[in-house]
Amino acid sequence: MLFKLTKESEVLLQDRVRTARMIGSDKTLVLHGGGNTSVKGEIIDHTGKRVKALFVKGSGSDLATIDENGFTALRLDDLLRASSIEQMTDLEMTEYFKDSMVAPDQPSPSVETFLHAFVPFEFVDHSHADYILAITNTDLTIDNILDILGRDILIMDYVPPGFPLAKEFMKLANNYNLSDYKGVVLRKHGLITWGKTAQESLDRHLEIVNRAKNEINKRFNGMGKLELEKDKIDNIITNLPKIRGKLSSKKRKILNVDLKPEIIWFSTLPEAEEFQSLGPATPDMIIRTKFEYVYANSIEELPEKIEKYAARYEEDYKEFINGKYPMHDPYPNVIIIKGLGMITSSTNKKEAKIISELMEHSIYVNLAAKSFGKNKFISKKEGFEMEYWSLEEAKFSKIRRQEFEGYVGVVTGAASGIGKSTFIKLYENGIIPVGLDLDLKILDLSKSLGNYSMGIVCDITKENEVTEAFNRIVLEYGGLDIVFNNAGYLHPAKIEEITLDDLMKHINVNSIGTFLITREAFKIMKAQNIGGNFVFNITKNLTNPGAGMLSYGSSKAFAAQVAKYVMIEGGPYKIRSNIINPDKIFKDSKIWEGGVLENRAKTKGMTVEEYKKSNLLKIEVLPEHVANVVIALIKDDTFGATTGAMIPVDGGII
Ligand SMILES: [Zn+2]
Repeated sequence: MLFKLTKESEVLLQDRVRTARMIGSDKTLVLHGGGNTSVKGEIIDHTGKRVKALFVKGSGSDLATIDENGFTALRLDDLLRASSIEQMTDLEMTEYFKDSMVAPDQPSPSVETFLHAFVPFEFVDHSHADYILAITNTDLTIDNILDILGRDILIMDYVPPGFPLAKEFMKLANNYNLSDYKGVVLRKHGLITWGKTAQESLDRHLEIVNRAKNEINKRFNGMGKLELEKDKIDNIITNLPKIRGKLSSKKRKILNVDLKPEIIWFSTLPEAEEFQSLGPATPDMIIRTKFEYVYANSIEELPEKIEKYAARYEEDYKEFINGKYPMHDPYPNVIIIKGLGMITSSTNKKEAKIISELMEHSIYVNLAAKSFGKNKFISKKEGFEMEYWSLEEAKFSKIRRQEFEGYVGVVTGAASGIGKSTFIKLYENGIIPVGLDLDLKILDLSKSLGNYSMGIVCDITKENEVTEAFNRIVLEYGGLDIVFNNAGYLHPAKIEEITLDDLMKHINVNSIGTFLITREAFKIMKAQNIGGNFVFNITKNLTNPGAGMLSYGSSKAFAAQVAKYVMIEGGPYKIRSNIINPDKIFKDSKIWEGGVLENRAKTKGMTVEEYKKSNLLKIEVLPEHVANVVIALIKDDTFGATTGAMIPVDGGII
């Protein structure tokens, strides 16, 4: 850092952090990085000079968890000089901020930095409180609102955020003595309060929000609750893959199904249909929720409605944005189905869940607003302008899309060996990994990875457990894109020693288990109709059988035939099916445990070390070798034209 805080500023900032966090931790006030706060103080710059500074929330911070480093320091006098400038583009504003920052290594400051600077008080708090929005997103007159919220506040009509909002505030500051007021209500946006101390500004904030809340509680009973019936969940699961397929027409999507009793209740109201073109609670949500959502009377009519939405979106884009920025994905991010709840979608699970939460608050706000008369939000044109706001566009153009964003991959036998290694590789490649295993360790493994990965304890030889596992996957993500059939059972025995029980065990795991997984996953991929990838771990035994492996080899030969049929019947749906044949992979492997490895080495007359490297390349083949081949196989730019291939990963065997 190129500056020092004065002793006074240190205290001010600590106080700033304390109340900012209080605002941030109340979800009725701000959500997911929304809202911003500031304090004015002094710093000592690199020349030793005391300089007036504005400390304002920097981008990338969340008020709930912000600390002193989350506030960016700017030269206050530089910012105040901008009040005489008539117009400024977003880009010019960003440059102006950069030039006014005290230290260039701090995060770029909030887009509302000018507004914070222009408020002539030490502490400023800005939130998007649900209760305030419920009153401002209506056709109430200014007088009506003042009657509810008190005459000690000011009201501003909707102005887009950034410099226009700050300029509009300046007009207000010139016409009123701000000392006589506690804050400003920004219509269709939120609330700003100020104070000489952090506590004063916070108290005023909560007081005004409470006035709104009390009035709403008199008129609106709040959200009702309705439980979803069990057979309806089955209906959702049956239809989700098709919906995911439609939503993924341009980019793979991860879905989130919101079945909260409040959402089910709302979905049965006439307002669920009425609000579809109203917009969310605040303009800054539009980048995530889009302006409109899809409402459907039944889940069956969704595919058609989704297509219609996309076509209309393209028309709206042409009308309102007209090539100024590249068109976003035209498919809806929010869907509400009568009696069945809400589906949100994004290229990752975290975003899909955030969108759901933004919508929950928007639904509350819009219903509460309706109790005052008519709902009124910004126009569709203004909504599109927010969705394509240049500052956000600049951010997006910097983010490089990951190749496998929006992909879900299932690995069987994922708790150890090749399966575990592939499970982790999928994760490292940005794919949401789902691991199936009999071993409970799969739960800890998926937890340790995070990124909404899932571990399922599942016996793949049991039809009901496999179906249940795929139902869970569909309900959680909407579908899947990759299957690595890896789970296997191996117990070497000579022909005359093979018991029927042991042969059946091989057949159950290696043949039936692989079949059941394949059948359920195939159904989902076919319904999605966006392609998919199967990779089968068959092992070299198929092409190069070794003595004592009849049970293993023959049961794997069945699985190899399953792979062939996926190739044949999946082809028309762009479902690819390929086989990998690893050999002698011992690291972290369960099938070689319990003396199997030592016995095999002895049978071949080798030491364990010799046996491990008994291939042409004289190397130990590792699980990572296999995992990397799986990743290569599912990449469309390498193997996109390959199906029905069989790739050895064995160090070379003749
Ligand atoms: Zn705001």
